Amino acid sequence: MEKNEKSIIIIGAGISGMSAGCYGQMNGYKTKIFESHFIPGGCCTAWERKGYVFDQCIDWLLGTKLGTDMNQVWRELGALKNKKLRFFNMFNRVVGREGQSVTFYVDPNRLEAHLKEISPEDGELIEEFCNGIRAFSGDMNFPLLKPEPLYNENENKEIEEKFIKKYGKALRDSTGIEIVDFAKRFKNPFLQEAFPYILQQKMCDFPLMPYCYNLAAMCEKNAGYPEGGSLELAKSIERRYTELGGEIVYEAPVKKILVENDKAIGVMLEDGTKHYADIVLSAADGRTTIFDMLDGKYVDNTIKKLYEGLHSRENKIYEGFVLVFLGINRDLTNEPDSTTYFLEHPSKLLGCNQKGIVARHYCHHAPEFAPSGKSVMQFFYYSEYDCWKKLYDNDRAAYKEEKGKVADFIINYMEQHYPGLKDQIEAIDVSTPVTAVRYTGNHEGSVMAWIPFADTEEHVKPLVEKHHMKLPGLSNFYMAGHWVSLGGLVRSSSSGRHVIQFVCKDDKKNFVAQLAD
Ligand SMILES: Cc1cc2nc3c(=O)[nH]c(=O)nc-3n(C[C@H](O)[C@H](O)[C@H](O)COP(=O)(O)OP(=O)(O)OC[C@H]3O[C@@H](n4cnc5c(N)ncnc54)[C@H](O)[C@@H]3O)c2cc1C
Repeated sequence: MEKNEKSIIIIGAGISGMSAGCYGQMNGYKTKIFESHFIPGGCCTAWERKGYVFDQCIDWLLGTKLGTDMNQVWRELGALKNKKLRFFNMFNRVVGREGQSVTFYVDPNRLEAHLKEISPEDGELIEEFCNGIRAFSGDMNFPLLKPEPLYNENENKEIEEKFIKKYGKALRDSTGIEIVDFAKRFKNPFLQEAFPYILQQKMCDFPLMPYCYNLAAMCEKNAGYPEGGSLELAKSIERRYTELGGEIVYEAPVKKILVENDKAIGVMLEDGTKHYADIVLSAADGRTTIFDMLDGKYVDNTIKKLYEGLHSRENKIYEGFVLVFLGINRDLTNEPDSTTYFLEHPSKLLGCNQKGIVARHYCHHAPEFAPSGKSVMQFFYYSEYDCWKKLYDNDRAAYKEEKGKVADFIINYMEQHYPGLKDQIEAIDVSTPVTAVRYTGNHEGSVMAWIPFADTEEHVKPLVEKHHMKLPGLSNFYMAGHWVSLGGLVRSSSSGRHVIQFVCKDDKKNFVAQLAD
């Protein structure tokens, strides 16, 4: 590859920043990433406590199936290289307050039989749902290799032939109704309540589509769990990036983006040092980038609308998680991987506005996270931010105490499902949305930025479709990551690919990419 002289500074070594770095290197740019934290990955991370690995991120990773665009991106980034992939036979189980339960198997035939056993009177609706899953099966391949504005006429025709003709109806049908409305049609009261929790916690504006699509993706083995989990995924991409000649500077938080005559020329770090490049690309939090690093000078009405009221409007961005991890001297191999438990008093958990908590263990898909015969359990719920932030700022001891209370509440509650659990705990850790802000900088600890399918989507889409991942009025500057391309690992990794495609287009260069394996 012929080197050109241009350099790119990238802010953030999350999945999107490292992905942008890899594709930048593949295309002859000299890139350097400045990262606040001392490890790569951003949200995609894990840590160790007393011999247990507490992995906060991957529940399921899309793009594990060979031949899909998503898989190609992971292969180009070397993310899955030499890794075993493990797959799930169930997505989630929901357990009601009276102990009733439903398991959402990923195989639509098995799921249909199971649901009909629970509620024969809902047969038709159950078939409708399971057919919705079947409609996404087969060789479904979401086109993801380019941002929409860069597809040429032939490529658009091909997408029309291979994707829209085949899956357009399934997409239309399943985006036409929200899961909460679909669930109301069940005669069985427990299914009514449980259905919106298929994806573990309830998402109000979500249509049926992500439920059917994700179950189908798991069934088709296009969603799975890579050996080593989140941090190993991040480290594999970091390795690919450095092998391509890229450089990451850790513990180097960026404070300002340097601008001259409406042209980005470099960055100033928190320590006051200035670093210059031909192009600056932020893969960090959107609000911080636009309003702190650039003082809100480069926004139009769409961007203003998107960000204004960010704090107060419910259901605009994903909330952060409260996560409780336990390392336990107990083998959970025979237990379901993931369960949502409806609680009598969820409001006893600070910040919780869902009906229940999610409990997961890793014995099937990441046995390496615990010593042999032992297990890691993870519990989480979406949580409001302010209550934690106030405690953290005003009374650090009370903040710690509240974290302890949450852990105690969950442990006491779980004791009824796993008698003896209390005495088997060897390690505990609790993370809140404040922890997430400290380690990733994401606004209010949001796990995946903007909520798709909500009103916001019409303001998010122009970031790519109209602005081409840039900001109005500012040249030599680009943005990538889940604040631009919506959340989830595969969208973040492809966001790094897309942004470099825009960079190449602006530089009148052909974009190239190579597989790592
Ligand atoms: C708990 C949790 C569970 C999740 N589960 C899943 C899942 O199962 N499947 C899935 O697909 N997705 C999941 N996600 C979502 C997914 O992890 C994210 O959407 C994705 O990792 C975002 O990547 P990113 O690079 O866009 O942003 P980030 O991961 O936020 O990366 C941004 C990076 O920028 C750095 N940074 C911020 N500010 C600065 C600064 N001033 N200077 C320098 N560096 C800075 C941060 O430290 C960070 O490393 C989950 C997320 C969380 C938090």
